[in-house]
Amino acid sequence: MAVLWLDEISAGDLETVGGKGASLGELTGAGLPVPPGFVVTAGTYRSFIEEAEIDEELFAAVDVDVDDSAALADAADRAQELILETPFPDELQTEILESYHEVGNGEAFVAVRSSATAEDLPDASFAGQQETFLNVTEEALLDRVRECWASLFTQRAIYYRQEQGFDHSAVNIAVVVQQMVDAEKSGVMFTSHPSTGDATMIIEAAWGLGEAVVSGAVSPDNYVIDRDDRSMDVTIAEKKVMHEKDEATGQTIEREVPEDKRTQRVVSDNEIDALMDLGERVEDHYGEPQDVEWAIVDGDVYMLQSRPITTIDEDGSDVADPTGSVDAAKGLTDGSGSVQAAEGGSTDGTDSSGTGDVLVDGLGSSPGTVSGPARIVIKLDDLDKVSEGDIIVTEMTMPDMVPAMKRASGIITDEGGMTSHAAIVSRELGVPAIVGTTNATTTLEDGQVVTLDGDKGAVLEGSEVEPDEETEPVEEVRPQSPVKPMTATEVKVNVSIPEAAERAAATGADGVGLLRMEHMILSLNQTPAKFIAENGEDAYITELVEGIRGVADEFYPRPVRVRTLDAPTDEFRQLEGGEDEPDEHNPMLGYRGIRRSLDRPDVFAHELEAFRRLYELGYDNVEIMLPLVNDAEDIYQTKELMKEAGIDPQRRRWGAMIETPAAALSVEGMAEAGIDFASFGTNDLTQYTLAVDRNNEHVADRFDELHPAILRLISNVIETCREHDVDTSICGQAGSKPEMARFLVNEGISSISANIDAVRDVQHEVKRVEQKLLLDSVR
Ligand code: PEP
Ligand code: MG
Repeated sequence: MAVLWLDEISAGDLETVGGKGASLGELTGAGLPVPPGFVVTAGTYRSFIEEAEIDEELFAAVDVDVDDSAALADAADRAQELILETPFPDELQTEILESYHEVGNGEAFVAVRSSATAEDLPDASFAGQQETFLNVTEEALLDRVRECWASLFTQRAIYYRQEQGFDHSAVNIAVVVQQMVDAEKSGVMFTSHPSTGDATMIIEAAWGLGEAVVSGAVSPDNYVIDRDDRSMDVTIAEKKVMHEKDEATGQTIEREVPEDKRTQRVVSDNEIDALMDLGERVEDHYGEPQDVEWAIVDGDVYMLQSRPITTIDEDGSDVADPTGSVDAAKGLTDGSGSVQAAEGGSTDGTDSSGTGDVLVDGLGSSPGTVSGPARIVIKLDDLDKVSEGDIIVTEMTMPDMVPAMKRASGIITDEGGMTSHAAIVSRELGVPAIVGTTNATTTLEDGQVVTLDGDKGAVLEGSEVEPDEETEPVEEVRPQSPVKPMTATEVKVNVSIPEAAERAAATGADGVGLLRMEHMILSLNQTPAKFIAENGEDAYITELVEGIRGVADEFYPRPVRVRTLDAPTDEFRQLEGGEDEPDEHNPMLGYRGIRRSLDRPDVFAHELEAFRRLYELGYDNVEIMLPLVNDAEDIYQTKELMKEAGIDPQRRRWGAMIETPAAALSVEGMAEAGIDFASFGTNDLTQYTLAVDRNNEHVADRFDELHPAILRLISNVIETCREHDVDTSICGQAGSKPEMARFLVNEGISSISANIDAVRDVQHEVKRVEQKLLLDSVR
């Protein structure tokens, strides 16, 4: 049998039908209303390549050096060509088409999805299971099945398997063919409360196909129902758009919801009852709360997908406050957002602010409270004495301190502001930190047990925190209920160190609004010139590709905005080779950002080559962002260099940071030069508008990103960009402040990028403001 019907499949058939097929089969077998369909089994793919005798050639073709991008591209082309050009044996063709006829009398629109079977691959999506075709009819069915098979051999899939050490011949692929449901209404349902596990169902619903809800294109109605007495809270949203099938082409299209249905409640009481019955059955079947995608057509409820809810705490209690996040290896939480070093502390467990005397204070730059022994780090050798759970006390952190920062339970610096290296990296690592104390290294003693309160910016004497339960930094940042507020304004996340990518992605953010490339380079501990001199250009480009790829993989297909190199020369001077860097009087106003890249196009070409290779590898979610531009001339010159490097500016998304008043005032010209987006770098925009050094603790109280002058610049840029259809976003630290988020949403910004620990609050703030705007518009 080349195909298995969904009702013949159960969860144990992974090897034969892949993850997707097994899950749909299990639901069908449980009598749940899954749209009918069948799976072209993994064995069928295998016999296809073996009987046609293309298997050996196929596996030989992909056995290449994947770091050689030309060889990789050729390998992918050859492998796909072999599959796509090999005809179906007659018998197989007949069996698939006959099965299709049984699904919908030969007229059905079906979804064709690949379902890879290499269960033990860390991320099976890279095995090739990305390929999905919707609204497929008979004529295209066989080709689509073959295309799913060929998707095992995209450049990305080959590269990934090779890197992970997986044998290409050990991965098989099944294809699910399932009737499409022309949903009149659809949505998602959590069978229990997604953060507490309470007996509360949450249903989100909108008109048309479910993609509009899942992708966030529409704010859905929200129904919160008590499972015991079925009492219900309903919030009706204004649903402006819906997705549906275009009758002429069969394609999914977005269209406006008719005026009279926009504020109409989507699901009736009877339908809620039917959904709840379904939810209870699914939860009973799996024995754990589920996150279900559903659809309703002609009054019948269908179930499209179900998976366990991953955000419920093991003990059913609320997920810890994100502000208390800390690496489990480094510390313990008291469950109230405060953390305790793994060694050397005790507390009353009730008040994380403690009763010890304040020894030093500064800017609370990464939240959480932690106790532990202080380790004074003056020179690099001192880093060796930093053990798990210690609190690093230093003048200012540098990139080569990152490994020690990961071990530490807290960080305190003399220097720096909220946008300094210590502040940025500690937030991403989820390690509480205080910066700009001016005197921590001279006031605190090595080995002295202290409590660091990263919210209030105070260092107290003694240990104030009780060990309680371990927490997982990745789990802590996952969105709570509703799992992810659907917002029209995208909420993204900032990433500086690739190691933080998993934690960043777990926030449910809509992508990365800023990936700072310089952190990857600074961690090489050599200037680019030195690294290239010792290791060659290709090694340098590979470092960039690898660093970016780690983040782009984690978020794929969500967009990742990668900023080209922007490190002031004083940071480069700390690295090996730094002696050759110019000694600048004022590095913040000096040789950095796009001005340096344009001055040295030969060096910039390496970064552009890295982007080109990433695009070639299929990372179409990577976007290019240019730092410290001043005007359209900077944009035109860069665009030429992109073209010379083989990057098509029309095909790729790229844009500029707005970090100087000049850039803010010149944005119209930049829009005309072709940028897709403008992103406010408020750290620099503030320092250059107010003449306040962002890293100078003596003027930190004057560093006000909400200053009316800055808000005026921002507001004008948003207005101009909207007129020119250019997206706007913020990726400076201020995007994490609710007041700024409120201002920006009211002004009509397209996206906000926040720090990992702030994403959840910003999502909720954005949702609140958007709902208020909607309400105001109808009042
Ligand atoms: C900014 O200036 O706001 C910004 C995001 O860039 P950086 O902090 O890296 O200068
Ligand atoms: Mg900047």
